[in-house]
Amino acid sequence: MKLLVVEDEVALADALSEILKRNRYSVDTVYDGEDGLDYALTGIYDCILLDIMLPKKDGITVLRELRAAHLSTPVLLLTAKSDTEDKIKGLDSGADDYLTKPFVSGELLARVRSLTRRRGEVVTDEFTFGDIALNKSTFSLSREGQFVKLSLKEYQIMEMLIANPRQLIPKERFIEKIWGYESDVEYNNVEVYISFLRKKLTALGSAVTIKTARGIGYFLEGDAS
Ligand code: CA
Repeated sequence: MKLLVVEDEVALADALSEILKRNRYSVDTVYDGEDGLDYALTGIYDCILLDIMLPKKDGITVLRELRAAHLSTPVLLLTAKSDTEDKIKGLDSGADDYLTKPFVSGELLARVRSLTRRRGEVVTDEFTFGDIALNKSTFSLSREGQFVKLSLKEYQIMEMLIANPRQLIPKERFIEKIWGYESDVEYNNVEVYISFLRKKLTALGSAVTIKTARGIGYFLEGDAS
């Protein structure tokens, strides 16, 4: 899951990003409304945490422009005020929920979970495809009671594959989602993790395989359950 944090108070933005990363979200952080809008418009995020009072472009304007561009990514507004007028304006402009600062991390995570769930993500702890299951809590891949642990990057790649089985996922998409929109990661890094995952699938004796569409990307194939 990939989140965008748009918050100009650097200490708060970094704290938010830290909490979210510890809970296995990939996070991009930007510090003003213009960058917030540019990043959000890429459409690669599963949820956007958007401050209202922002330099260059305020959060409500960013939100209106996103919705005007038909971007339906869930937006959680962050507001310093208990000002009900701001909240109403926010919800009227297309926000999905809001959180009043200061907030505790438990509440933040609960709101993010609820907003990302609404998009039809799998609510259970597992993704399954063919004869394998990918556990979101333990980061493990399993088949018939046998388990292998995945590293964070392996898990993130496998999650994208298994959430979109048989769909070709371009290499660039993995890089955007996992390494970040402006990352300079070499493409062959993806290949390295794919080869690790293939070894683990083989170790499990799974019929599921990661196929390569040469020069384009990867997709998951196997006996469908
Ligand atoms: Ca602010």
